[in-house]
Amino acid sequence: ATEAAEKPPEKTKYGPLADSDRIFTNLYGRHDWRLKGAMSRGDWYKTKEICEKGVDWILKEITKSGLRGRGGAGFPTGMKWGFMNKPDDGRPKYLVVNADEGEPGTCKDREIMRHDPHKLVEGCLVAGRAMGARAAYIYIRGEFYNEASNLNIAVQEAYQAGLIGKNACNSGYDFDVYVHRGAGAYICGEETSLIESLEGKAGKPRLKPPFPADVGVFGCPTTVANVETVAVAPAICRRGGDWFASFGRTRNSGTKLFNISGNVNNPVTFEEEMSMPLKEMIERHAGGVIGGWDNLLGVIPGGSSTPLIPKSVCDDVMMDFDALVQVQTGLGTAAIIVMNKQADIVKCIARLMEFYKHESCGQCTPCREGTGWMVKLMNRFVTGEAKPDEIDMLYELSKQIEGHTICALGDGAAWPVQGLIRHYRPELLRRMEDFQKSQQQKSAQA
Ligand code: SF4
Repeated sequence: ATEAAEKPPEKTKYGPLADSDRIFTNLYGRHDWRLKGAMSRGDWYKTKEICEKGVDWILKEITKSGLRGRGGAGFPTGMKWGFMNKPDDGRPKYLVVNADEGEPGTCKDREIMRHDPHKLVEGCLVAGRAMGARAAYIYIRGEFYNEASNLNIAVQEAYQAGLIGKNACNSGYDFDVYVHRGAGAYICGEETSLIESLEGKAGKPRLKPPFPADVGVFGCPTTVANVETVAVAPAICRRGGDWFASFGRTRNSGTKLFNISGNVNNPVTFEEEMSMPLKEMIERHAGGVIGGWDNLLGVIPGGSSTPLIPKSVCDDVMMDFDALVQVQTGLGTAAIIVMNKQADIVKCIARLMEFYKHESCGQCTPCREGTGWMVKLMNRFVTGEAKPDEIDMLYELSKQIEGHTICALGDGAAWPVQGLIRHYRPELLRRMEDFQKSQQQKSAQA
């Protein structure tokens, strides 16, 4: 009861974010991304003091901030990093940064590495310090050539300036950063698959447990964290966990990078306060839906693995973890894919199924076989030649995949299909009727 009394009342208006509250100050590449430019914008400021304050202090601030992982799962960051805080058993600990951003619709981490690489390098040191890690491996998507190049330059600059390496920032703490390029597999964005790949093996997910915090890369305790999660850690430590927690709602705090793509006037990546209404985000940042809000058909709110929501839900849903779960979807990577009434929504989902089938590593039968079957069925929906009972068959198939696989790729493939069936069954039936009519016309003419 005391805690509730001390809590400030929940805000009712979220965003727009003031410029002075932005963490990603060079999101659009308008300024110098090299060390001098980064330092002039506040990066690497008081990093020595942050490191000296030590593990418990950093973990406390991160926990207080309410930061949840920005890679899709939304696990509380303070708790996750705290799993590494255990007695030394002689094995080195590692931070692995998941920079294998491959979720369709998502391009936020890419912007950080392109235009603000020092935020990530500094973030590695701060996050690494919080875990007692000796080194960070940044596993970057193979296709991100320019980003890897900028990141490598930033790492070199940081070494030369004594910010990382032996006695990083003069804090007495030794910390190395390595950049490792992937080879273009979506599945390597899954943490255990990424670890396998980093060890030089084929990128196939591992069964958990053991979890990476117990047995991670090279058999050592490891935390795999998303680029954005790591990159915001220094700003949180400098400005305080309470400052970060003052944005958004309880359990959904902070500022966040969002992407908007698809049928909007200005596709965009931007930083905004969590919990801003989806409609306001699209209208304020992306110039609105092509043809106006009433021309909206539906939205995939958090990258391709999150289920579609129809316009009626989009009208007043907020963009945060809890609000989106309530409407049977998720915040995921916060990559908003907008589809207007001119888009062929069935074809879009069929195309996504092709993607998941192609990217499945093939280890588990429900995913390997199920994605193939979903492609076959979805293609029948695209043409309309499917029969009405195939809708329930497809739904049942997706349920046989969901929760029955080693990694979340299977769930990611099942959910878009479930969203389509949940909200667009009439559209599927309409296509079947059209197909039947065209067949009847053809036979009448013959
Ligand atoms: Fe591989 Fe799919 Fe199983 Fe993940 S769910 S381990 S991608 S077969």
